[in-house]
Amino acid sequence: MPWKWYTGKVVRIIKESSTTSRFWIQTEEKVDFEAGQFVTMDLPIHEKRLKRWRSYSIANAPHESLLEFCVVKLDGGLGSTFLTEEVTIGTELKFKGPSGTFTMPKKIDHDIVMVCTGTGVAPFRSMISDIIFNNKSRRKIHLIFGTRHEEGILYREELERWAENDWFTYDVTLSREENWNGYKGYVHGIYKEAYRDGKEEGVHFYLCGWSQMIDEAVVQLMTKMNVKKEYIHYELYG
Ligand SMILES: Cc1cc2nc3c(=O)[nH]c(=O)nc-3n(C[C@H](O)[C@H](O)[C@H](O)COP(=O)(O)OP(=O)(O)OC[C@H]3O[C@@H](n4cnc5c(N)ncnc54)[C@H](O)[C@@H]3O)c2cc1C
Repeated sequence: MPWKWYTGKVVRIIKESSTTSRFWIQTEEKVDFEAGQFVTMDLPIHEKRLKRWRSYSIANAPHESLLEFCVVKLDGGLGSTFLTEEVTIGTELKFKGPSGTFTMPKKIDHDIVMVCTGTGVAPFRSMISDIIFNNKSRRKIHLIFGTRHEEGILYREELERWAENDWFTYDVTLSREENWNGYKGYVHGIYKEAYRDGKEEGVHFYLCGWSQMIDEAVVQLMTKMNVKKEYIHYELYG
């Protein structure tokens, strides 16, 4: 789908954690996109046009009429602070899109591991919702989500509900929570353990989040687990 400019209105906001907001944009004309794609917003944070642009993954599935986003406020971050603190119901946002090739193949004929930290879950939530809605595949999907604290677990109820399906596995790991009975530490330990000794054969790995996590995952997968380069897909947030 070719990209173009849209103007949309914020119609709903949910404060998901102390630093993260979900919000929904309504556009006059429906935005056609593929699950996993992103848009680039022109935010009122700078005089120079190119310094105002920030990209955000669409967090919901293409069949839905609104566009959902899930944004974390970064310390000193102009765009993320605007989106999480200044946007209110009725705010108009200008954006271009959809863009990106971080999407699922038309026919899914391999198992998938999705690895993300924080709001990096957004494109995966879009992809899995789309797979469920369109009954696209029943190949195994394993979502590994990492964040610091329990309050930062995004889309928890929904993902736990989806995990009642035998084709979907959902693991959460927390890196800074003392009282947590689940996995502790970073995401890497989970896929390293689950996909060793040949269990990674044919599995495709999708990674989404910030550079520290993605750089380490790519090194792990390619050099330590010998996963083929073409089986590793990633969306780098920054
Ligand atoms: C394709 C794509 C999709 C994206 N989707 C999303 C999304 O769905 N949700 C989302 O929340 N973000 C997403 N991002 C990131 C987003 O585009 C912005 O980069 C992010 O919101 C920060 O912008 P900002 O204007 O707040 O920070 P800027 O004003 O650009 O300033 C950067 C500030 O943030 C701090 N900073 C920079 N990088 C990091 C980091 N890795 N960790 C902590 N602090 C840092 C710096 O110290 C600096 O103070 C996506 C990025 C891309 C490229």
